[in-house]
Amino acid sequence: MPVRKSILPDLKPDNEHERFMMEAIKEARKALVYDECPIGCVIVKDGKVFVRAHNLRLTRGNAICHAEVLAIDKACKKLGDWRLEDCDMYVTLEPCTMCAGAIIQARIRKVYFGAYEPKSGAVCSCNDIFNVEHGHNHKVEYEGGILEEPCAVMMKEFFRKIRIRDAAKKADKPEDTSN
Ligand SMILES: [Zn+2]
Repeated sequence: MPVRKSILPDLKPDNEHERFMMEAIKEARKALVYDECPIGCVIVKDGKVFVRAHNLRLTRGNAICHAEVLAIDKACKKLGDWRLEDCDMYVTLEPCTMCAGAIIQARIRKVYFGAYEPKSGAVCSCNDIFNVEHGHNHKVEYEGGILEEPCAVMMKEFFRKIRIRDAAKKADKPEDTSN
């Protein structure tokens, strides 16, 4: 069930970065249809959305199916090249360690993310992987907090819904409530 339907229509992008982040939010909302954590991503090339992807970890039963990795995979296939040097990424949540690594490997130029991830963000919250020396000259630029509030609210609403659902499940099982 979609959460906070009103979030997106109320948003009016102030600039190009917000416009692309809105596209990433639209992608994130697709993940909600499958009860996936709402994380969306677009890769922009030549001023246009080149590919889009959303988190599919649960649906595919595969730990690596994060939005960023899926978007990189699509972009490489579409371009026929592993190097995405002229591409920028917009993702609704600060990337994790795996995705930050994939972003470096793909040589993405700049990453714009929405909400900060205090528990596992590898860009600046828990780690600063883009600033670690990786043995090659590529350095990924980044900027966080693009449409931060709607991105963060979307996550909070999702986890609130999961908590309510899990609590309801627990209440259905008498053995779980005996203590
Ligand atoms: Zn990730």
